[in-house]
Amino acid sequence: MLNITLETPVGELTRIGKTLAARLQKLGIKKARDLLFYFPYRYIDYSKTVSISELVPAQLFTVRGIIEIIKSRRSFRRRMFITEALVSDSTGQLKVIWFNQPYLTKILKPGDEVFLSGELDTSCHHFQFTSPIYEKAKEETIHTARIIPLYSLTKSLTQKQLRYLIKQAIPLAHGVPEWIPQEYLKRYELAHLPWALEHIHFPKNFFETKNALKRLKFDEALRQQIKVELVKRTRGKSLARPLLFQKEPIQKFIRSLSFELTKDQRVALWQILQDMQKPRPMRRMLEGDVGSGKTIVAFAALYNCALNSAQGIFLAPTEVLSFQHYDRLCQLFKKLKITTALLTRSKKFINGKPALKNELKKKIQDGKISVLVGTHALLAEDIFFYDLGLVVIDEQHRFGVEQRKFLTEKSANGKNFAHLLSMTATPIPRSLALILYGDLDLSVLHEMPSGRKKIITKIVEPSKRSAAYKFIRERIEKGEQIFILCPLIDPSDALGVKSVTEEHKRLNNEIFFGIPMGILHGKMKPKEKEEVMSRFRNNEVKILVATSVIEVGIDVPNATLMMVEGAERFGLAQLHQFRGRVGRSHLQSYCLLFTENFSSKIRERLEALISSKDSFELAQKDLEFRGAGDIYGIEQSGFLDFTLVKLTDIDIIQKAKECAEELVRLPRERHPQLKNVFEELSSSVHLE
Ligand code: ADP
Ligand code: MG
Repeated sequence: MLNITLETPVGELTRIGKTLAARLQKLGIKKARDLLFYFPYRYIDYSKTVSISELVPAQLFTVRGIIEIIKSRRSFRRRMFITEALVSDSTGQLKVIWFNQPYLTKILKPGDEVFLSGELDTSCHHFQFTSPIYEKAKEETIHTARIIPLYSLTKSLTQKQLRYLIKQAIPLAHGVPEWIPQEYLKRYELAHLPWALEHIHFPKNFFETKNALKRLKFDEALRQQIKVELVKRTRGKSLARPLLFQKEPIQKFIRSLSFELTKDQRVALWQILQDMQKPRPMRRMLEGDVGSGKTIVAFAALYNCALNSAQGIFLAPTEVLSFQHYDRLCQLFKKLKITTALLTRSKKFINGKPALKNELKKKIQDGKISVLVGTHALLAEDIFFYDLGLVVIDEQHRFGVEQRKFLTEKSANGKNFAHLLSMTATPIPRSLALILYGDLDLSVLHEMPSGRKKIITKIVEPSKRSAAYKFIRERIEKGEQIFILCPLIDPSDALGVKSVTEEHKRLNNEIFFGIPMGILHGKMKPKEKEEVMSRFRNNEVKILVATSVIEVGIDVPNATLMMVEGAERFGLAQLHQFRGRVGRSHLQSYCLLFTENFSSKIRERLEALISSKDSFELAQKDLEFRGAGDIYGIEQSGFLDFTLVKLTDIDIIQKAKECAEELVRLPRERHPQLKNVFEELSSSVHLE
């Protein structure tokens, strides 16, 4: 074998060609080191090896035998390739069958000794192994006869390929330096890093995986907590241009609104404006349930920034949302004589009028644009700011770390950093937020704007469907508007699930004939999306049939009914987001949950939406129903930059915090490995 090191590009490993290297790159695997750190998400236990006579159905087994016969044939009727083999050991014979692997007869020949791992097929009268994993018998197996790791894959990459490559990298684990000082390994009962890296992939038993996982989770949490500590330190030193609180115009602006700010909104805004006056960059998170009114708080902060003749940007996760924010911003800022602009991939506007990209770029660079709204298109490298004072990130969990980092790095103007306000509706409890984001200050909007009525939520049985349609018609006759949400776009995507296009057609022709309807889904062009949204906002479209695109941020106060098809397919947190699209005015609003599946478990889960009073309580229920897997429904959304650590690992996070606080105070020259990690982490920090 080649002489490989941790830094060897994967392209140079055995059996990797250009295409495979490109596929690995997609998973973020570039060097041999990355293979070690590509952790399995699950294991299958094939460690139990039995003789053929001992096989019983419905259990996971490995069999060791000799191939007697093996041949492939094409089955024209079923349009597939079938490979059949007869395998024997001293106790008996076993029929084995594989589908669509025509090359198998080239790999496995009669007389070969093989391991076969899988589950016995019980659908036939005789015992048969269907599609077992195979591996030629040798001393140390990788794919069979042991606990095998399963990895997340990308197109045209197989578990076997990836497992084989990772196995090649395992000897390198010993070259990964231990960086946590001995004393701390002992105190927190942690395994050594090289040991953990080896055994997370190829454990002999589940005790080993547990220990390996514990160490690696701690590693991850500790690195994150060290970053928090480092950020706190650099932040104490970094500079920002103070943006003075322009009391009078701000108060005037607030008074001019068509509603009164809630107390929480006023407190949050006051905190933000105080922060912005300081010569240190603000790093504040504004957390508030859907509909709690975060946007207006951000707008007031942007106004204050413009009054200081600095530039502000408002970053939204989708084009539809950017358009909506820009629309509202224009209305509010026009009379204030503040120049606004919109920049997304498909649209460029200045003061509400279409503009050319180059013109817009130049005006941004010359400081002629005060407030810029847009998607991540405005993070592009060729956009330069004259004097960026405030960056607002809406729905911050929808942005990747890279984008957030890029933004904060870019926002530095000479020595000065821009102030940063990120906003989220993620119900993460304050105590936890403070541990995880110890470097951020937190403002929370608990209170909903007054005059709102509680949304009436109902689970609708299939037999009540037409009654529900009648109810919808009545709402429309009263001048109100409706959302109808379907899980998928194309009828072909899955059977039995209401798809947007199909459902739109059906409702339009059969149920709501004569009522103007619109359709919104992710595959539409931005122009089309914007057009239908603006017609909906203007009350020209009465019913909007949509996919989960509308989950984030859409605000049409006149919409009073949210109907969700296939509600059982969504998590509670997501359903809560959907429901948050209505109930945004003094009008009584409704949320109708349709489901074809009436199992008591699903019913009970959906009922939680009726009984919970806010998203925090729902998050807790989500946790109870779906287990520790995806607490708060945010782990998958990239809200946290963790791979292994879950929010339920509070204990680990807490200990890592303790440990980090001590480590940053250790004399670094005595701990060279620790010093390296600190240097690596601080270069990635840059005021994230
Ligand atoms: P979110 O926090 O989910 O982003 P938005 O900022 O979109 O919520 O606000 C939801 C709706 O409530 C908007 O139509 C907004 O104009 C309105 N709103 C915001 N604050 C108040 C308030 N204090 N009183 C009444 N309505 C408000
Ligand atoms: Mg919002």
